[in-house]
Amino acid sequence: MKILVIGAHEDDIEFRNAGMTIKFKQLGHDVRFLCLCNGNGGHHILSPEETARVRKGETQQVAKILGVQYDIWEDISDCEIEATLENRKRLTRYIREYNPDIICTHRINDYHADHRATAQLVQDASYLLIVPHFCPEVPAMREMPVIMQTVDSFKNPEFRADVIIDIDDEIETKLECVRCHRSQIYEWLPYTKFETVPESEEEKVEWMKGMNITADTTDEEVMAAKRGYSVRFAKVAARFRKELIEKYGEEKGSKVRYAEALMLSEYGKQLTAENKDKYFPF
Ligand SMILES: [Zn+2]
Repeated sequence: MKILVIGAHEDDIEFRNAGMTIKFKQLGHDVRFLCLCNGNGGHHILSPEETARVRKGETQQVAKILGVQYDIWEDISDCEIEATLENRKRLTRYIREYNPDIICTHRINDYHADHRATAQLVQDASYLLIVPHFCPEVPAMREMPVIMQTVDSFKNPEFRADVIIDIDDEIETKLECVRCHRSQIYEWLPYTKFETVPESEEEKVEWMKGMNITADTTDEEVMAAKRGYSVRFAKVAARFRKELIEKYGEEKGSKVRYAEALMLSEYGKQLTAENKDKYFPF
């Protein structure tokens, strides 16, 4: 299978889908990342040009770790992604050329205008993927891909975990991907939150994780924790404990520490009891 993960910004994809990506790759499937802007807005010291260059370098480190092709639409500036006809055509052509079985992206209701525009563009392109006289220069797809939306914490409407993935075996690699985004996790994002980052590399890593999550950590403790990437990824497991137990059984499902979750879009191919394990065989 071919899996295309589309995000607005340079860290969005791996923060939500790195675990799933590792699992797909291990099974011999191809995964590609597409980021719809150059990320040049997110730094308080570097110039926009330097920020875009640094962030591209960070994504290429992630690409190496995960073994994926990581494309960036470098001509689009951060905070300026728009769901225009021009971008709809560009995305339609891009998706058709890759011809994925599964697409993952943001949800339409999201705090960031770029995330919303990205989700809108995927939604707008979805039916057009099979329409032959729209963008006829790239042949239309014959079969609609499954379109999934990646987990977020927005409540209106609430996210539904149609697919839940235990990523305990992949968490260390996922945190390694997070660490590639130094300009974000140790510089820009702490600046926006008035946080002080520790000096040494070891302290930085522990600080980035936010909490030492063990087999004894309860879901309540995870949900009460305020910050850190271990916490963020553990919260997905704590929030969707019921779904984890449904999928993996009481014994295993109750012990999963880290998870990723996906919600099915109504506008792509639909998942059924029969095909769900074919598309998400883990
Ligand atoms: Zn983003």
